[in-house]
Amino acid sequence: MIRTQGLACNYAGAQPLRFPDVDLPQGGRLLVQGRSGSGKSTWLSLVAGLRTPSAGQVCVAGQALTDLRGSALDAWRARAIGFLPQRLHLSHALSVHDNLALAYFAAGLPRDDAAIAQALHPLGVGDLGARYPAQLSGGQAQRVALARAVLLRPAVLLADEPTASLDDEAAAQALDLLQQCCRACGASLVVATHDRRVHQALPGAQVLDLNEIGLQGNQDGRKQL
Ligand code: ADP
Ligand code: MG
Repeated sequence: MIRTQGLACNYAGAQPLRFPDVDLPQGGRLLVQGRSGSGKSTWLSLVAGLRTPSAGQVCVAGQALTDLRGSALDAWRARAIGFLPQRLHLSHALSVHDNLALAYFAAGLPRDDAAIAQALHPLGVGDLGARYPAQLSGGQAQRVALARAVLLRPAVLLADEPTASLDDEAAAQALDLLQQCCRACGASLVVATHDRRVHQALPGAQVLDLNEIGLQGNQDGRKQL
């Protein structure tokens, strides 16, 4: 589950971003929508504990993030959060297989090579373990990054603009895979996007609309986007 209360983020020299509260049950799906610059990626980084809010609280899978610091926060994130960033952050110096092994190192767990091979298979990249990221197509690289994100069966999968550079068919497939992976491990799914196609692919998902807070913010003078 994800619960946020009174969440805000101040960037130096910019208007503060204030976010509506979210209460997403475990296994639920959330669409974070809004125009470019509305704060979608910022919200994801707050929920992942990658950024400290200037106000408010985040609780993920029963863990209040304000209670964690430093290496304890890093270890918690490595186990509880699957993150599929817009730029995939695959290491180009490592094979696909070893890129997945990084998930174990980050979590302080012994690597499990059999589990890595198994994780690649259902995403259709089971025979690419020995390749390097530079030898993958964009779609293959995304699947590898997704396999790494869900390898440790996180409580939450956060995907930032996962359809950004994909045609209609590839976008639909990518969203299908995200949902399949989350169902398989019981994870909640959060997709941040300004892509209207995602709405159709996630019917019934909760929506966090950051365009709306822009309007409210302008009305009460707190925030301008
Ligand atoms: P989105 O993902 O919706 O495009 P972001 O969360 O990236 O929006 O950005 C929200 C706002 O915060 C934008 O105005 C952006 O310029 C600003 N911002 C994002 N990251 C930083 C940063 N590291 N330093 C200063 N301002 C930032
Ligand atoms: Mg963004």
